[in-house]
Amino acid sequence: MKPWVLATRNPGKLEEFQRLLLPLGQDILSQDSLGIPEAPEPHCTFLENALSKARHASALSGYPALADDSGLCVEALEGAPGVISAHFAGEPRSDQRNNEKLIRLLHGQPNRCAYYYCILIWIRHAQDPTPLIAEGRWNGEIQHSAQGFGGFGYDPFFFVPSLGCTAAELSLSQKNQVSHRGQALQHLLCQLQQRHG
Ligand code: IMP
Repeated sequence: MKPWVLATRNPGKLEEFQRLLLPLGQDILSQDSLGIPEAPEPHCTFLENALSKARHASALSGYPALADDSGLCVEALEGAPGVISAHFAGEPRSDQRNNEKLIRLLHGQPNRCAYYYCILIWIRHAQDPTPLIAEGRWNGEIQHSAQGFGGFGYDPFFFVPSLGCTAAELSLSQKNQVSHRGQALQHLLCQLQQRHG
């Protein structure tokens, strides 16, 4: 069985995916370990960016590829930071500066509703005309101050009302059970099982 290449350079995501994909027994190689540079993400939708990342990784590796594009969408900011979540406060990328900008923009804003969104794409080869596509959405609220030390990105500010804590207060396995990425992966696994029996 060919390995799959995981089209992400984000170490936080890599760790989450490796854990989530463990039950598949599928050999997963990171894009970095194959020397594949980051793909351009010029598009304004998560879907287009994920497809672009998957095709890039598959074309350069010759392997089936799994790619995601994800981010935080804040209702009061009309969906921002959205596809630019990783570099919301500009380059070089910094979770701390991104969070500071987010809290600044939401100052005095009573509507703190937000959601993490993840789209996941799996392709058999770079030209695959029928990619498998799955999505996940995780609702929460942006709280005023940071809480918790787990996760990455916006997690310390992302309060999950149904759990009564921030995403950064969850263990990795707790987060995977409920997160946007966890949900998307479950949907993708169902599709893979249907396709491959
Ligand atoms: P991508 O690598 O282009 O998909 O960018 C994802 C960015 O969205 C990350 O760098 C984070 O800023 C944000 N993000 C996505 N998923 C999460 C998460 O689970 N926790 C915290 N931030 C996330």
